[in-house]
Amino acid sequence: MSALLRLGGLTAGYGGAVAVDGVSLAVAPGETVALLGANGAGKSTLMKAVLGLVPSRGVVTIAGTDATRLPTHRRAALGLGYVPEGRRVFPGMSVHDTLDAAGPSSRAERRAALERVYALFPDLRTKARDTAWRLSGGQQQMLAIGRALMGGPRLLLLDEPSLGLSPRLAGEVFAPVSAIAATGTAVLIAEQSPARALAVAGRAVLLRRGRGFCDAAVTDVTPEMLRSAFLT
Ligand code: ATP
Repeated sequence: MSALLRLGGLTAGYGGAVAVDGVSLAVAPGETVALLGANGAGKSTLMKAVLGLVPSRGVVTIAGTDATRLPTHRRAALGLGYVPEGRRVFPGMSVHDTLDAAGPSSRAERRAALERVYALFPDLRTKARDTAWRLSGGQQQMLAIGRALMGGPRLLLLDEPSLGLSPRLAGEVFAPVSAIAATGTAVLIAEQSPARALAVAGRAVLLRRGRGFCDAAVTDVTPEMLRSAFLT
């Protein structure tokens, strides 16, 4: 099956500063790809360039459509789900309302989507009536992922889902990724702590100072490659 995300020579940055430098990669349906690199390597910028939130050169193809010149909302409509770094859930909104507001307009479909999210993250069902600020960091991350899943994305972009979480909570956040991919969703996970991402991914793309220098099956990624990715 053809890739849900394909980047060809993607270059992006801020003013004159290049943050992503000619990166090419593809993510197939049902595949999970880990995008790994040190702080500042360009992972968040690459995701923002996929969304059209930063200017870029090169080719962005989403679900077979050339999205290079499309604005963000048209790219999103092709099936993008995005969970930005830092979660950004509305603190005063309940779990249920946060998810409900992000769902399809049909009530029956919204209910089915809500049920799927609660099945993936049982903690969210337990906390459905609580406001987001009462949740733990891990539960807030689950809520941010759940919110992105409510739109039924074909491609899910997760930016540093383990940031600021204890290893145990990070494990809980990562646990459903395989189940999400098993439904055919393509998942791209940016991380600077590689262990969890490598445990759920099939392939890894390593970035160093904006350049992709390795695109390999996770089983072929050596400790030397990882060391090299995390040298700044
Ligand atoms: P992190 O793990 O810290 O999020 P990252 O790999 O996601 O790192 P980016 O956030 O994409 O890296 O940053 C890549 C480069 O772009 C860095 O040198 C960073 O300082 C720079 N940068 C990021 N955002 C901006 C911005 N809004 N304006 C100017 N430069 C930026």
